[in-house]
Amino acid sequence: MEEKHENQCVVEGCELKRSILHNKCVVHCAKGSPSGLSPNYFANQFNEYLKCRISSSSQGVCTLNSVVFPHDWSDDYDSLFRDFDKNIIIEWKDCSFNYNFLPRIKTNFTNCSFNNSFSHDDELNNMNLSFINCTFNGDFKLEHIKSLSLYFQKCRFKNEFIIFDCSIEHFTLLDSNFNLSAKISQSSLGVNECIPRIINSIFTGILSFELSKFPYGLHFDSNITHEPPNFRGIDISSSSAKKVTSRETYRIIKFNLDSVGNIVEANKYFALEMDKLYSELSWKKNLSEKFLLSINKYSSNFGQNWWLPIVWMIVFASLFYIFRDYDPFDYSFLNGIASFIIPYQGIIGDTHQMSKLLCSILFGVLFYQTTVALKRKTRR
Ligand SMILES: [Zn+2]
Repeated sequence: MEEKHENQCVVEGCELKRSILHNKCVVHCAKGSPSGLSPNYFANQFNEYLKCRISSSSQGVCTLNSVVFPHDWSDDYDSLFRDFDKNIIIEWKDCSFNYNFLPRIKTNFTNCSFNNSFSHDDELNNMNLSFINCTFNGDFKLEHIKSLSLYFQKCRFKNEFIIFDCSIEHFTLLDSNFNLSAKISQSSLGVNECIPRIINSIFTGILSFELSKFPYGLHFDSNITHEPPNFRGIDISSSSAKKVTSRETYRIIKFNLDSVGNIVEANKYFALEMDKLYSELSWKKNLSEKFLLSINKYSSNFGQNWWLPIVWMIVFASLFYIFRDYDPFDYSFLNGIASFIIPYQGIIGDTHQMSKLLCSILFGVLFYQTTVALKRKTRR
């Protein structure tokens, strides 16, 4: 612990003079609204503090502690860091931001509070932000940003959370709490091998992902939603997404689309849920379930493909026709049994009864698959 002079600010790492009324300097002391400070004076003092912190920073990370920004501050973030290396990662700890604050470089926030909105709506590239245990008292709103990375852990959003038309490469949301609506719309989330994660969070208002894309999947698990989340028009069915998205995530999407009557899209996610179940089961341990699911999967993609069973019917009819007189071994005993299956007596004739019986059952299943698939595509 450094030794402080009598008239120095008490905050660790700050060498500025304390003000007459406080034991802290103008950068760190609590401020009223209006603050009565000249913006230039605050900026100059902040600059002094920043210089001192950057000179003692290590491994490209500069930590700024307990800074309290005045409410009537009007300059932007860039002006504060104009004279410094853009590659330095700024780490704000226990700070209070009282104006619309938007950093444009890699920035971490821990135990910070944002008392005004945190928003940006112009086109912008590259923003990498991490928030741990932060509170947003105003809106959190990001629009039209490309190459965005966001990490939230144990954050509280007391106002609206909006992400619109952004391209988010890394997105993690853990153990957070939303008092009002949370909307991530018309955006793309995820890059290769980095799956967006939304885990263990509470959404009191509407949660919406309308028209967003998850080309590399989504982990949406153990969240509490007070209203059904809106998954209308989302895209999470690419082959990469299917590999990593859990069955539970697909089930939640299906359930919520179903609950608002969006049956057509719900059916698509039902098929994806079944496909995940199919890949989870093993032929050794779950033979009958796996067998039934494989019939469903390959004959109609779990009721999503109505022409696939028709193709199978044509294929099987052709095979039965080609091999109609093929008798590799004597199976008159099996034919005898088949001729006693009551509903088929009279239909299957006097020859090849077993083949005809199998053919009838197979076609029955395929007709059923066609009907189900057509019904799923056309029902109200
Ligand atoms: Zn200070």
